[in-house]
Amino acid sequence: MGMLENKLPENVIFTSVDDVINLAKEYSIWYLLFATACCGIELMQTGASRYDVDRFGMIPRSSPRQSDLMIVAGTITHKMASRVKRLYEQMPNPKYVIAMGSCSSSGGPFSKFAYSVLNGIDKYIPVDVYVPGCPPRPEALINGVMLLRTRMRQERTLVVESPLLTA
Ligand code: SF4
Repeated sequence: MGMLENKLPENVIFTSVDDVINLAKEYSIWYLLFATACCGIELMQTGASRYDVDRFGMIPRSSPRQSDLMIVAGTITHKMASRVKRLYEQMPNPKYVIAMGSCSSSGGPFSKFAYSVLNGIDKYIPVDVYVPGCPPRPEALINGVMLLRTRMRQERTLVVESPLLTA
């Protein structure tokens, strides 16, 4: 610490406000309970005692207004897509989306022959992380959450672009 060495009491640390905000976001991901097909079973298993995502500060919520993360788990039909979008719009910022499994990422096994199935929820809402698999195991979903947390850590909330630099 150079000049400040031995001049500050113990338990004093230096950090940025952005890092504090990111730490809070990273360790308090409240996810919307939202599942439409077989991937939902793996999502439930991920939240249950064996995989226990609570240890990462993740808590399921039933209301989009209390959720930071939407995990789209399962097949999404064209009819459902606008409802998914509405739920997404009801979530407060900052908000994130994980597409869990082949169906929500790309239509999966239905992509070619099922007229009713949407080929990827990213046609309606922005997706931050895609988790491959049919279905992905809980370990894969947890890995997707870890990727999302890495991304959260790099976000800058307080940076204000200078008009002189952007002109
Ligand atoms: S990706 Fe596979 S397991 Fe998941 S909802 Fe689609 S068909 Fe079911």
